[in-house]
Amino acid sequence: MPHRAEKTLKEIENLPGACRVIAVVNQKGGVGKTTTTVNLATAMAAVGKRVLIVDADPQGNASTGFGIPRADRGAGCYELMFDGLSVEDVAVPTIIPQMSIITSSADLAGAEIQLVTTERREFRMKDAFERSANNYDFILIDCPPSLNLITLNALVAADALLVPLQVEFYALEGMTSLLQTIDAIRARFNPELEVQGVVLTMYDKRNSLSDAVARDVRAYFGDRVYETVIPRNVRVSEAPSHGKPVLLYDLKCPGSRAYMHLASEFLKREQAVSSVEPVFETRKAVGE
Ligand code: ADP
Ligand code: MG
Repeated sequence: MPHRAEKTLKEIENLPGACRVIAVVNQKGGVGKTTTTVNLATAMAAVGKRVLIVDADPQGNASTGFGIPRADRGAGCYELMFDGLSVEDVAVPTIIPQMSIITSSADLAGAEIQLVTTERREFRMKDAFERSANNYDFILIDCPPSLNLITLNALVAADALLVPLQVEFYALEGMTSLLQTIDAIRARFNPELEVQGVVLTMYDKRNSLSDAVARDVRAYFGDRVYETVIPRNVRVSEAPSHGKPVLLYDLKCPGSRAYMHLASEFLKREQAVSSVEPVFETRKAVGE
């Protein structure tokens, strides 16, 4: 347990207004990481939060989801990690007021190999945040579908993790290795890391398995699982091809409503972290 001075500092850091870094992580692809990053960020910006998205996936789906074509992407996540640039140098505004994005470029695909031989290879992203002003309430990092060195950088840089789980038969597959990785990161690099929440995505009420899977996930993760469940909704999947978050594409659709609910639950949880209990009391729920 941290001594008293550290505890006080941590409490101060987490007061509303301080920048919280959340990595959206699950090493499985197609579970809703990017969709959750983009739409949770948008919903929070809609209620006045200053939000930065870091597109840390070389596939660049979050950047595409904001209608930023590959050809128009200048310096981004790669340059942030390798060229000594700061957030201010590489963040670009999005169509949403109060929200910026650090895009992913083709170079990022080579970062994984380059990182192996780079100095402070696990800390490239954390170091970048530390040399930046971070005038944001939240930084959301959209991780690649792998527990590679880029993801490791996100886990080291993050205060907390948000884990999207697709409601499907194999939802919990891979969670043991994710939790083991989190434990290893805590032990070696980032003792404060916590799982802030687990969000169930692409819930299909017509599929008889859905409820059973959701129950299993809640039994496994307990109250870390958000009550809000994101339904499978075709509007959610259409929105990226229009270069918009679903909240802009169709505010009234069930997917948009669910992400607004999630944002409200998320912010309540964040407020609880910052104002009620010292954070080290709240991070024990998972992985031990
Ligand atoms: P990841 O980033 O984990 O790979 P994505 O967010 O890209 O996953 O989602 C995978 C695919 O599923 C995308 O085509 C996306 O549009 C679609 N999708 C995500 N969430 C929903 C949803 N709630 N309803 C319908 N389609 C969804
Ligand atoms: Mg993605």
